[in-house]
Amino acid sequence: MTIGVLGGGQLGRMIALAGYPLGLRFLFVDPSEDPCAGRVAPVVKQHYMDAQGVQERLRQLQVVTYEFENVDADSPWLAGDVDVYPPVEALRVTQDRLLEKRCFRELGIETPTFTPVDSDSELQGSLSRIGLPCVLKTRRFGYDGKGQSVIRTVDDAAEIEIHAACILESFVQFDRELSIIAVRGKNGETAFYPLVENEHRNGILYKSISPSPNVSKSVQSLAEDYARRVMEKLDYVGVLAIEFFQYGERLLANEMAPRVHNSGHFSIEGSDTSQFENHLRAITGLPLGSTGERGLSCMINLVGSIPDIDKVLAIPGAHLHLYDKEPRPGRKVGHITVVSDSRETLELTVSQVEALVG
Ligand code: AMP
Repeated sequence: MTIGVLGGGQLGRMIALAGYPLGLRFLFVDPSEDPCAGRVAPVVKQHYMDAQGVQERLRQLQVVTYEFENVDADSPWLAGDVDVYPPVEALRVTQDRLLEKRCFRELGIETPTFTPVDSDSELQGSLSRIGLPCVLKTRRFGYDGKGQSVIRTVDDAAEIEIHAACILESFVQFDRELSIIAVRGKNGETAFYPLVENEHRNGILYKSISPSPNVSKSVQSLAEDYARRVMEKLDYVGVLAIEFFQYGERLLANEMAPRVHNSGHFSIEGSDTSQFENHLRAITGLPLGSTGERGLSCMINLVGSIPDIDKVLAIPGAHLHLYDKEPRPGRKVGHITVVSDSRETLELTVSQVEALVG
């Protein structure tokens, strides 16, 4: 079976690496020059909206998925006779922060207070309703904190010029950031990984701990219930990630991704079945795999540079994943996962890893 994957970055690369033991083949579509998934599977170098040759290619594929949610939902790759999972509607909702937050609210899922803002005058008018501090975000094409500004004072707001449709949302004084990786099969079967605690630096995920320490059963169930509501509403198939702000026993949904997610990378070594394999099992109609833990995990992203590989590999229990990408400031070039039986050993090993990561 050959699976078409829109987007040829590290997520696609890790999907393919998880799929080979299942006997699956892959064809990536990516307009960029040298996508890192191209080192492990063939790539069609083509813009997602270019229809040239797409119908012939689709005839060779059994299912199409995506590893990148900024693919236009009207792409010809998503409109053939081939099954597309997750469904295109999930892509439409999650690539627009306004539709996404409205979807959460309709399903009774708490979010920060928000309002659409399309012009400078609307921004001024909305400040008193949302309150200060607040965060202005572009509705589309924002990721890793890009396309966002924190507004602390009325003067901050006066300096902003709005050039794209935005949403303004309240700034949440959260206790911490958590995410859930959920998966739903074609037959409606669901599975959930334990909530992960995420630490960001400069708007980019730096570290994820799984299971997150000190999560009550009720908060885990709340996250699973929220994810289930979204997946049922969207008739979802595949892996879904939802990022939350935790505030006491409350979870406020920040955003979701209709794909495998950086905060789920721990699952390659830390779970019985990785998020990548479970995504593939779901979209190909196979039974889902156990999301059980193999220990306590911590994943650290390598952003902008690669540490001394010899030293990393000399740390017992450190698993290195390099994406074969040229290091550049702010670019994710790999990650390291540590899995351990005890919190003490995990923390000790993680501190050894962190000493090597710039
Ligand atoms: P996002 O691109 O929406 O995931 O935002 C990137 C990061 O900015 C989040 O992981 C938070 O650390 C921070 N952030 C985003 N929105 C808010 C908010 N409403 N209140 C507080 N922090 C936020």
